[in-house]
Amino acid sequence: MSLPVIGITIGYDPRRGQLHALRQDYVRAVEKAGGLPVVLAPVAEPLIAPMLDLLRGLILSGGSDVDPALYGEPPHPKLGHVVRERDDFELALTRQALARDLPILAICRGHQVLNVAMGGTLVQDIESEWSGGGAHDFDSRRDRWLRAHEVRMLPGSRIREILGKDTVGVNSFHHQAIKKLGRGLVASALSSDDRIVEAVEQPSAGFVLGVQWHPESFWSQRDGFQPLFEALVRASG
Ligand code: MN
Repeated sequence: MSLPVIGITIGYDPRRGQLHALRQDYVRAVEKAGGLPVVLAPVAEPLIAPMLDLLRGLILSGGSDVDPALYGEPPHPKLGHVVRERDDFELALTRQALARDLPILAICRGHQVLNVAMGGTLVQDIESEWSGGGAHDFDSRRDRWLRAHEVRMLPGSRIREILGKDTVGVNSFHHQAIKKLGRGLVASALSSDDRIVEAVEQPSAGFVLGVQWHPESFWSQRDGFQPLFEALVRASG
């Protein structure tokens, strides 16, 4: 049996010259779960279908804020840097992957991209737009496997089944969050303190799951989130 090829989107920031960037944790987590990771740089729209032909599964990775124009809202003063080239690529990639029912694990920014691709909207700044919002935007230079807050998974959800417990501690490196859910998505985990949507899934799909935290940061830790990557690889087999 051939290894399931799992594509991982990659960051691109024009302010940093010609460099694409991806934390190696994504690659290691997929490798450890038994998949063959390949990184996907943004390409022009006509190349997206042939790119998807090569893949059996997809990870939408973390990164900068999504341009709010893409969900029809004006920019908030606290909006971070946006990279429209990456947004356009990932939205088209996600919509085409959904149309093919390709297994998708969407992480942090990816969880937000998935929601926007399905017609949802975002809270552009938790601190100023979500009343009672706790701390979610921890310094990204701290050890990335440190748990920052608890999330509660909904009974009967796929993520509850995969992780096998009702609550779990997660890391947190985000100042944005899901506001209105995309069509066909359901919230499957909420932050225990402030009810931020920390995970989503598409019940009608084979495997479409988003998490607001960074499960890949735990790949080398005991008791981390490898079951999420193993479930993606299994669904992509
Ligand atoms: Mn969080």
